[in-house]
Amino acid sequence: MATDTININVRLTEKSRINQLDPENIVFGTLFTDHMLVADCVNGEWQTPEIIPFGDVAFNPALSSLHYGQSIFEGMKAFKNNQDEVLMFRPLENFKRFNISAERMCMTTVPEEIFIGGLEELLRIDAAWVPKGEDNSLYLRPFMFSSDEYLGVRASLNYRFMIIMSPAGKYYSTPPKVKVETEFIRAAPGGVGYAKCAGNYAASLYPAKLAAQQGYTQLLWTDAIEHKYFEESGTMNVMFVKNGKLLTPAVSSTILKGITRDTLIQLAKSMGVEVEERKVSVEEIIEGIKSGEVTEVFGAGTAVVVSPFAAIGFEGTDFDLPAITENSLSSRLKNKLNAIRTGQEADTFDWVWKV
Ligand SMILES: *Cc1c(COP(=O)(O)O)cnc(C)c1O
Repeated sequence: MATDTININVRLTEKSRINQLDPENIVFGTLFTDHMLVADCVNGEWQTPEIIPFGDVAFNPALSSLHYGQSIFEGMKAFKNNQDEVLMFRPLENFKRFNISAERMCMTTVPEEIFIGGLEELLRIDAAWVPKGEDNSLYLRPFMFSSDEYLGVRASLNYRFMIIMSPAGKYYSTPPKVKVETEFIRAAPGGVGYAKCAGNYAASLYPAKLAAQQGYTQLLWTDAIEHKYFEESGTMNVMFVKNGKLLTPAVSSTILKGITRDTLIQLAKSMGVEVEERKVSVEEIIEGIKSGEVTEVFGAGTAVVVSPFAAIGFEGTDFDLPAITENSLSSRLKNKLNAIRTGQEADTFDWVWKV
């Protein structure tokens, strides 16, 4: 599936670091592939992108993104199938969301040839870095920041788009205990919750730290106005299983439109599971856990696929969830999605993009 071909200037590394990759022992986000893509938009004109050896970039201390935060990113994954072909999962969805984030942050948008074409070319060059093995993948991080060297507050005239890639391994974790957050908020109507912008992450760290001090590994964000309805969990979308149905908050301006979320909804429907996208109140879920009607609560995102929760803490009380088994809906959805995105199972949805 090639997009419009694009001219990219390529300068290859003289010394690969691939021997540093140990597929049995990958620590997330610490090792980067041999090359990266850099494309500058100068006064509204995209310059020819470059693929160059991964390394430091110099910046002027007045770089506007450092001061005023015009900075957005995407997170996606590439896999190898049994034939050693490199597969991306629904990359056009990430491309579209990137430009939605760009518009909200008053940044320039990125042409598809640069975003998708750049990912494809970079993956061809660094294909050896896509680790094989169950649960291994190459994490792809396209991002863009304003690059004016100017301290005045205004939308920058110049932007830099980059792609870096980092091997990712098995996500070991015990099911987290999550806290229903009723004081701090992640997003408010009219704000930037639906954009994948850097500042949303910065703002979430302090409430997460306070929750960690109380013994919780993750937050369950509620709506900014009443703190009555669930929104997201940490940096994942959140899903519930109640009476065998899959419930998830309907997307809005305060909820990031996750691609995993959308994928799991489509998979659940294809498996004959009823799905409800609507407001889900804290009360409904707490009562449901007490009565046994709510059997699963999990986060959904690219990094972990699904992350089932062990317990939900609300106003000082922990409500335990039943243990997850191979028959749990979250396990079945996770296995199905993993099989499709690694090419083990037929892709009847047209989600898998062969590089
Ligand atoms: C990235 C992200 C998600 C998950 O989106 P996916 O496309 O499934 O990876 C959910 N919530 C927030 C706030 C995010 O930044």
